[in-house]
Amino acid sequence: MHHPRELLATVFGYGAFRPGQEEIVEAVLEGRDTLAIMPTGGGKSLCFQLPALCRDGVTVVISPLIALMRDQVRSLREAGVEAGALTSGNTDEETEAVFQALDEGRLKLLYMAPERLASPGTMGLLRRIGTRLIAVDEAHCVSQWGHDFRPDYLRIGELKQSLGVPLAAFTATADEETRAEIVTRLFGGVEPATFLRGFDRPNIHLAFAVKDNPRRQILDFAGARKGQSGIVYCGTRSKTEVLAQALREAGHAACHYHGGMEAEDRRGVEVRFQQEDGLIVCATIAFGMGIDKPDIRWVAHADLSKSIEAYYQEIGRAGRDGAPAETLTLYGPDDIRLRRSQIDESQAPLDRKQADHARLNALLGLAEATACRRQVLLSYFGEASEPCGNCDLCDRPAQLFDATDAVRKALSAVLRTGESFGAGHLIDILTGAETPKVRERGHDALPTFGVGRDLSKTAWGAVFRQMMGRDLLRPDPDRFGALRMTEGARPILRGEETITLRRDTVQAAQQRTAVKTLVSEEDAPLLSALKAKRRALAEAARVPAYVIFPD
Ligand code: ADP
Ligand code: MG
Ligand code: ZN
Repeated sequence: MHHPRELLATVFGYGAFRPGQEEIVEAVLEGRDTLAIMPTGGGKSLCFQLPALCRDGVTVVISPLIALMRDQVRSLREAGVEAGALTSGNTDEETEAVFQALDEGRLKLLYMAPERLASPGTMGLLRRIGTRLIAVDEAHCVSQWGHDFRPDYLRIGELKQSLGVPLAAFTATADEETRAEIVTRLFGGVEPATFLRGFDRPNIHLAFAVKDNPRRQILDFAGARKGQSGIVYCGTRSKTEVLAQALREAGHAACHYHGGMEAEDRRGVEVRFQQEDGLIVCATIAFGMGIDKPDIRWVAHADLSKSIEAYYQEIGRAGRDGAPAETLTLYGPDDIRLRRSQIDESQAPLDRKQADHARLNALLGLAEATACRRQVLLSYFGEASEPCGNCDLCDRPAQLFDATDAVRKALSAVLRTGESFGAGHLIDILTGAETPKVRERGHDALPTFGVGRDLSKTAWGAVFRQMMGRDLLRPDPDRFGALRMTEGARPILRGEETITLRRDTVQAAQQRTAVKTLVSEEDAPLLSALKAKRRALAEAARVPAYVIFPD
C-alpha cells in the first residue's frame, strides 16, 4: 500500500492536506463508511481519489454530471492515474479503452452517472472488476427535497448492499435534513463516520444581540446598510410581512417571502432579488434553496434558528463573493421557549427529540458565547481555530463575572418554589419584590427571598436567560414555561462546579411593548388561546403562571 502523504506530493503535487482531508482519507482507507461535508472548493475529490490509489482494486465514482466526470478524468490522466468514465457522451473508442483497462486490471477509478446503475449489466460488471469502494460525489442528489434530486441516486444504497463494499459520500450541503436523508438512503440508516470540515467563512462578521426592541433593532441594522442586498429571516410568515412593511416605510426596497405565497409570487421575489441591487427580502426559511446570489451583503435573524446547522446555512448565504458581509441574530427567552416547545411537541421519537434539544443547545451556546463566536461555531464543526477578529465578541470582549453564587441562588429559588414558576416571579423573589403574587403564595417567607438584591432585575434577567441558554433550566412545555432544573445544573448547585456568565451591556428584554408590535393577526388567536389556557390551568392548579407574551 502506498502512503497517502507521499502520493499527495508525487501524484497530485500538493504540499499539504487541506483542513479535514487527511482524516477523511484515513477513514476511507480504514474501510469505514464515510460521509464528508465540505464547502464547495474545499477539496472533496482528493478524498476519494487518493484512497483509490493507495489500494488494489477499483473505486467506482458516482457523479451526476458528465462535465464533472470528464474534468476529473482528464486531470487524473494528466497526473498519470488510470481513470476512465462510462457515460453516454463517450465515443466508442473511449468506452473500448475503459473496458480494456478494466480487463487488464489497470483502472483505478471508474466514473459513472447514476443512470448507468439502472442498466442490467452494470451490477455484474462492478462485481467482476473487483470494486473496492463506492464514492458518491454530490451526495445530496439523493435528497428528494433538494433542488438537485436525481432518482437514480436511490439505486446506490442497493448497489452498496449487493457489493458489500464501503461507501464514501461527499457533499457541500450541510443541513441536517439532507444529511439524515443521505444516511437513510445511501447507508441504510447506519450512521457513517461523518466529517464536516473547512466551513470557515472568514469574510462573514458574526454578531448576536438580545432582543430588546426587535423591530427597531432590525430597522437600525438595515438602516446602516441602505442600498445593500440583505435577507431578514423571521420565525413566522406574518412577521415577514410586518417587517417588510416596516422596512418599506423606512425607505428601503423590501418584500416578503414565505411558503404560503403563490408559487408565481415567490418566483417573482426570487427573480427580483437576483437582479435588483439593494433589495431586502424578509423571509421564512422557505427562502434559500436555490438562491445563488454572490453579493448578498447581510443576513439578519429576527428570530433564532432551530439549530446551529440551520443558522450557519442561513448566514452562509451572505458574502459568497468573498467580500465582507455582516450578520445579526436576535434572540431572547421567548425564542428558547418556542424552540424547546416545538421539539417537545413534535411527533419525533424520544432519541430524536434529545438530539434536537442538543442541537438547539449548541446554537444557544453560540448565542451566549463568552469569547470569540467563530471559535465556538467552528469547534462545533470539529475545527480548531484562533480568535477570528471578525465577530462582535472579538470586536468588544464580553464582560464576564463569576456567576456561581447567583446561579446557585437562582436554582435554589427554582427548587424551593417547586419548579412551578417562570423567570419573572423567581426574579421578584430573589430581589425581594413584595408583589401581590409573592405575598399570596407566601414566597416572602422563603429563605431565598431577597437574597439576590445585589443584582438588578435586568441583570437577573440575563442570568436566567443564560441559564436557559446553557440548558441548566428548561421551560416545562406542560406548564407554560415554568422553569425546571436540569441534571446539568446539579454540580453547580452542589458546589462542585463554578460558572462564568456574561454581563449584558444592552438592556435585557424588558420592553414588552416593543415585542407586541411584532405580534400580528396571525399570532393573535394563538396567543389569546394560550392565555386562556394558562388562566384556566392557573385557576385549576392554583399555579400563578408567568406571562410570557404581552398582554
Ligand atoms: P470540491 O469538490 O470540494 O468542491 P475540488 O475537489 O474540486 O473541491 O477541489 C477544489 C480545488 O482545490 C481544486 O482545484 C483542487 O485541485 C484543489 N485542491 C484540493 N486539495 C488540495 C490540497 N491539499 N492542496 C492544494 N490544492 C488542493
Ligand atoms: Mg466536487
Ligand atoms: Zn471572533
